[in-house]
Amino acid sequence: MDERRRQSGTSVDLGGAVLTALTDAQGSFTSYRDGFPGSSDELESFGRNRYSELYAGAAWVLPFRAFLVRSESGVVLIDAGLGPKPGDFLPARQGWLPSELEAAGVSPDAVEIVLLTHLHVDHIGWAAADGRPYFSRARYVASASDWVFFEAREESRVVFEEKLAPLERAGVLELIELHEAGTAPGIVMLPTPGHTPGHMSVRVAGGEAEAVILGDVAVHPLQLHDPNLAYVYEVDAAVAARTRLSLLEELASEEVVVAAGHLPRGFGRVLRDGNAFGWRKL
Ligand SMILES: [Zn+2]
Repeated sequence: MDERRRQSGTSVDLGGAVLTALTDAQGSFTSYRDGFPGSSDELESFGRNRYSELYAGAAWVLPFRAFLVRSESGVVLIDAGLGPKPGDFLPARQGWLPSELEAAGVSPDAVEIVLLTHLHVDHIGWAAADGRPYFSRARYVASASDWVFFEAREESRVVFEEKLAPLERAGVLELIELHEAGTAPGIVMLPTPGHTPGHMSVRVAGGEAEAVILGDVAVHPLQLHDPNLAYVYEVDAAVAARTRLSLLEELASEEVVVAAGHLPRGFGRVLRDGNAFGWRKL
């Protein structure tokens, strides 16, 4: 097992609810400059020093994680990774999610709810396989506005048909509107639009602590140091920046564990740093 895989499988016990990071893949699909064309040279060189694990030459190298919540009320998976090989997006993808679940002692059939923070390809990869829901006993929860957006989007047609349409056909899909919604005891979806129209973050409350799963409110820690740093695949960059700033304000003022699919280590805290923020790995 290589160094990167050993970083996965990390769990945080919130008291009666255990949150586990599952790494589905690790790799690069773009350069830092193409991903964040508005970055200053100064911010980039700061990032290359502070978060060196995210760079390989010009390439931006990032993890792709899902998160598992286990509590008395059941087994919940948050996001579904990039999916099995092969794939057009990140051709060298790994497809580790099933083995990560197995290492955590959870079979796909044991997952009762799959919450999708949004419907980008790297969050729905294992949602369905061979025309059927991959998590055969789960109910799937997604944002209604994301569903409408991706269903109508020409470039998403093939992926939508393969990964999402089977959920609707199987009758296991629950679409929710963009307001704070409870989905299971201790789990609340937070509307955090911008990255996609119906993007949602997830707040998980245990008996002793709380965690917030960011989704893609920030895909690179430099978006904490400069919340206005736009990521090229944000559907609405202005809304995404406003959402990022307000959520980061909230997270920095709380003693809350932050879980992030694409940030170093997966678990950390958002710290205030002057007028902006920083990422401290747990
Ligand atoms: Zn993502």
